[in-house]
Amino acid sequence: MTAAVIGSGMAGILAAIELKKAGFDVIVFEKASTLGGTWRDNTYPGLSCDVPAHSYTFSFARNPDWSMQYAPGPEIREYFQHVADQFGVTECIRFNSEVTSLEWTNTHWQLSTSDGYRGDFPYVFAATGVLHHPNIPDMPGIEDFEGAVFHSARWDHSIPLEGKNVAVIGTGSTAIQITSALVDQVDEFALFQRSAQWVLPAPNPEFSEEQRSAFRDDPAAHEEFVRELAITMFQRTSSAVTEPDSVEYQKVAALCQRNLDTVVDDELRKQLTPDHQPMCKRLIASSDFYEKIQRPNARLVTSSIDTFTPTGIRTADGIEHEFDVVVLATGFRSDRFIRPTRVIGIDDTDLDDVWSPSPIAYLSVMVPGFPNLFLLNGPNGPIGNFSLIEIAERQMSYCMQLISEVERSDSQAVVPTSEATSAFESERRDAAKHTIWMSGCNSWYLDATGVPASWTFSYDRFVEEMSAPKLDAFTMS
Ligand code: NAP
Repeated sequence: MTAAVIGSGMAGILAAIELKKAGFDVIVFEKASTLGGTWRDNTYPGLSCDVPAHSYTFSFARNPDWSMQYAPGPEIREYFQHVADQFGVTECIRFNSEVTSLEWTNTHWQLSTSDGYRGDFPYVFAATGVLHHPNIPDMPGIEDFEGAVFHSARWDHSIPLEGKNVAVIGTGSTAIQITSALVDQVDEFALFQRSAQWVLPAPNPEFSEEQRSAFRDDPAAHEEFVRELAITMFQRTSSAVTEPDSVEYQKVAALCQRNLDTVVDDELRKQLTPDHQPMCKRLIASSDFYEKIQRPNARLVTSSIDTFTPTGIRTADGIEHEFDVVVLATGFRSDRFIRPTRVIGIDDTDLDDVWSPSPIAYLSVMVPGFPNLFLLNGPNGPIGNFSLIEIAERQMSYCMQLISEVERSDSQAVVPTSEATSAFESERRDAAKHTIWMSGCNSWYLDATGVPASWTFSYDRFVEEMSAPKLDAFTMS
């Protein structure tokens, strides 16, 4: 039996490995010509993962050789390539093949691609990435700008930066990493800030050869190191987000404040002070952002952008800023999961309609009316400062248990009930009111209705829910 996986990023590679282990043949559909998902698309200077590398690793393919606490992007992409090769996934990937439609036909999905492929699959895994579609703001005059302008996830490496005047728009995790990397490389640097952000200090030590060989020689000790990292990072972050009164939250907030207090100039410190609480937006982790933004060739622009001009940007205060290069570090359309693929489920139901105004999914992994379609890192799952790898692994194990149940019971399809999904969604929305994400800021965590598109319960509850499906929430047919 052949299963389909859409996307060859981290979650797609994982899905293919687990399906192969369970005895399935697999086709991975990948619209690009190489694998790696977000680690292929993002190549900006300073790219790294602000989740510790040893936590951002498959549990079945630990890597004792990570170079640093927070690994650089290219090293992470190489890791995924290596794992895909090692587990025989690369040969299952159909490159340059974008899935354009999926239609349910009672027993299977009919899948069509941009390159003319048509195939039937009993099970489909959508591993299409949460931060995949660049958010390109509609900025007046942008087409008249005579310099180079590009989104952070579409970096134009043909444009030289040395000796240039460079602007970055945005203050999310991406913009802050780019700032740290570029300030010392370019002539003049400007960061356009619409909202100030809290920044958690995150020193990034290299692992010495001794440490790496110790991890290599003693896998049990290495595993214990990973386990302790997980406890500190994820469970504490989870408490901090869902219990803003907790000691964990107060510790994070105090660290951010102390970091901000290192900014020497009173006016700059004031401008960099957020008007919301730490962790309301995704927390930024950086060892040197404040240091870099205080460099003599760097400046922070807080007046809002009025228009692009042929030579740069004019801000609302009337100032004309001249640039050679403008980087749009303006984030992603996180609500566009699996789209623009046309997905038609039972009774010709269109996923676009079900997900209007905002996506819902039972426990984030399945949608009523869309049998045997499994979502990895899909809508309303745990996001924030967690390792999406661990999350995808838990979701994958859950989905494989459901598939086993289908096969064991001689059924052909599994789908969550509308009742279970509505009850979950309503509880999720209620719990959202108590999270830090709703404490008064705008961020990509919020859906079109202003509710966090995230797991609004504790991480422990996620672990517990994913440990085994509650079968009364599903219909088998
Ligand atoms: P983001 O967090 O959504 O930030 C986008 C930034 O662009 C915000 O500062 C936003 O301002 C600004 N912006 C958007 N439209 C604008 C406009 N029209 N005018 C002016 N400013 C505008 O995007 P991101 O930095 O790419 O990060 C997205 C997510 O990717 C992160 O939260 C994280 O989950 C992930 N990421 C992870 C890492 C990592 O190391 N693990 C690194 C990079 C990214 P407002 O704040 O005012 O909306």
